[in-house]
Amino acid sequence: MKVPLLDLHAQYASIREDVLAAITRVCDSQQFIMGPEVEQLERELAAMLGVRAAIAVSSGTDALLVAMMALDIGPGDEVITPTFSFFATAGCVARLGARPVFVDVDPDTLMLDPAQLRAAMTPRTRAIIPVHLFGLCADMDPIAEIAAQARVPIVEDAAQALGAAYKGRAAGRLGTVACFSFFPSKNLGAYGDAGLVTTDDEELGKRVRLLRTHGAEPKYYHREIGGNFRLDALQAAILRVKLPHLSDWNARRRANAARYRDLFERFGLLSRVTLPVEPDGRTHIYHQYVVRVPNRDAVRRHLAARDIGTDIYYPVPFHRQECFASLGFPADRFPNADAAAATVLALPIYPELTAAQQEHVVRSMAEALA
Ligand SMILES: *Cc1c(COP(=O)(O)O)cnc(C)c1O
Repeated sequence: MKVPLLDLHAQYASIREDVLAAITRVCDSQQFIMGPEVEQLERELAAMLGVRAAIAVSSGTDALLVAMMALDIGPGDEVITPTFSFFATAGCVARLGARPVFVDVDPDTLMLDPAQLRAAMTPRTRAIIPVHLFGLCADMDPIAEIAAQARVPIVEDAAQALGAAYKGRAAGRLGTVACFSFFPSKNLGAYGDAGLVTTDDEELGKRVRLLRTHGAEPKYYHREIGGNFRLDALQAAILRVKLPHLSDWNARRRANAARYRDLFERFGLLSRVTLPVEPDGRTHIYHQYVVRVPNRDAVRRHLAARDIGTDIYYPVPFHRQECFASLGFPADRFPNADAAAATVLALPIYPELTAAQQEHVVRSMAEALA
């Protein structure tokens, strides 16, 4: 039995007619950049999340970049990020000439640890970027309290968390501004690059819109220097086909996570494998199902031999990346992130995964750990 880490073919088969009709609609219109499809998508996402402004952009990375441009982050500023995330979280800070300040993660959730955040705040701190890693929201109440005390904006990196919630509020409205990604492998994936910025601050939303098209308003009159962060109409049309399915797909991811828990218990592995946690008050959408095992690389090889796809998110924390060496963080400064990087293993969790495939995964884990 083959179990890929992600099977986009299965999802495509279930929506193929609608996707092809949407693509045809855009081709027949010959309007490829922005336009009504993008505007409709923005309205639908704003309504779903309950935010005042939803601005579709070219990728999740560009969402982070343009959100921080709109907050005027630049040289001399410090921006705090967890050291354990996808590269873009910190890369965008450095690209704006600001200094990324790394902090260690909570050992259970692998996300920004509020106590470490508090210790890292300085008078130069200009933003905090909590990452809702793997589909679970970061612990936002204490983070928001620290941010409010210091009057520093929060930029949510919600790239992996569309549909997740914290105390009944959607990821995307838990900070000053939030950034989503529709990279094809994300839980809502385009057929290319795409992203989104959300905010309840209408002035900030306007600024993001302006920066998205070279800061021009009207066209060819540049009020400030922005970029090309626009979304293609084709991507918007495809995302609009998929959006009505998202809550069902997220529910199936959650059901698969529950089934994994039952299986790990049935195979007597709960003391050998650390499963993802879902703290009270938070809704995990399991963008990834990341377990931790001490002998991770051997387990991974065994699963590969059993035709099971896995991946490691992420093998190298920011403070150990070559490109950030000049920031001067000691390699051994963040033990929780290092421990995570050495033990994390992402298992298949996509909505169309079958019970038999999940049993094959857990049985193979049991073999590897025997
Ligand atoms: C995917 C991702 C991004 C970047 O999104 P792209 O659309 O690939 O540019 C940023 N942060 C996190 C946490 C991500 O997972």
